[in-house]
Amino acid sequence: MPSLIFRKGLEMKGAVAGILAESYHSTLIEQLKANDFVYTSGRLTVHLAREFGFCYGVDRAVDYAYQARSRFPDRRVFLTGEIIHNPHVNEKLRGMDVRFLSDPGETVDTLTPADVVILPAFGVTVQMLQQFDAVGCTLVDTTCGSVLNVWKNVKRYAAQGYTSVIHGKVWHEETQATASQAVASGGAYLVVYNDCEAGDVCDFIRRGGDSAAFLAQFGKAASDGFDPDLHLQRIGLANQTTMLMTESMAIGEMLKAAMTDRWGIADLAAHYTAFDTICSATQDRQDAVVSLLQEQQVDLMVVIGGYNSSNTANLARICAASKPTFHISDPDCLLSRDEIRHRPIGAKGEVVTTNWLPLSGPVTIGLTSGASTPDNLVGAAIATLDAFCN
Ligand code: SF4
Repeated sequence: MPSLIFRKGLEMKGAVAGILAESYHSTLIEQLKANDFVYTSGRLTVHLAREFGFCYGVDRAVDYAYQARSRFPDRRVFLTGEIIHNPHVNEKLRGMDVRFLSDPGETVDTLTPADVVILPAFGVTVQMLQQFDAVGCTLVDTTCGSVLNVWKNVKRYAAQGYTSVIHGKVWHEETQATASQAVASGGAYLVVYNDCEAGDVCDFIRRGGDSAAFLAQFGKAASDGFDPDLHLQRIGLANQTTMLMTESMAIGEMLKAAMTDRWGIADLAAHYTAFDTICSATQDRQDAVVSLLQEQQVDLMVVIGGYNSSNTANLARICAASKPTFHISDPDCLLSRDEIRHRPIGAKGEVVTTNWLPLSGPVTIGLTSGASTPDNLVGAAIATLDAFCN
């Protein structure tokens, strides 16, 4: 039986506005924005990027999750997994008795038609959606419009016989959902993580090669039955919406050049197509941090956001290219004026670094946060920095 699906809110916006503001708003951040994104106190100056924090997709997803809890107080409410990649927000929802299907002991098999399931901003796979439809539970679909735009394009690629080459992380929910859309539409896909992997794909496009070796490298990142000799003849580029824009553009240029070499410029359109699928919120945050780095003389950068947040990790990469950068998941990572717990760029886990903060004289810190980080965490981080410096 088809599920009841809420896609445009649950008519409870007013009812949850107060709790959302109380949970995620920051008066300090509002003051800072009004002060041209600068905070000064004693020897500390903080420059906040002009675009930071919750994006429109995350804002909507969190709003709908609270609305769902409020609208169905007597029903079991589930998330498929993390609603967004921020531990603070996910814990708040757990505290409201929103359950996570990704938790041990929870499975789709135990769902009943009376249950409510919230789909996250980055979407779910076609297979998962079919499972929910089969149960007949109520769905609250918060899939972001920017993700839906990517899906629309990969479906078009499939219909026109192009393989979707997705610049993304094969383990990320959004990329898995996008790949499933390509397959459900009768197409093939290949996920490339970075320019190094894209270079290997380009080599195969130009010169062909050992299909078995190619599949040994990319098999887990390609659709079932992927045949590089066949499926790389006609490709369309797509992106996970939160990737580094400059890297996505570079990969697009690499693939285009390889296809031009292989098929000739006159036939390029028949073999290669692309469209820009980095979402505007991701791009705005990346542009803002680049501007901050260019315009302000900061001693160090602090980037706040979940370690599994793709867009946050990419903001940290941009900062680390020119400044000492500390990617922290939470203000609690600011342990003391001597110690900070953070995840270095590209590392799998956290480390504690000492002597991270100049202990005397003026100190200028640049700050930004990922699209899944609420303002109250950024405000708390600034208050802690102030306490450490003054
Ligand atoms: S990062 Fe972009 S695609 Fe992802 S939820 Fe936010 S606005 Fe939507």
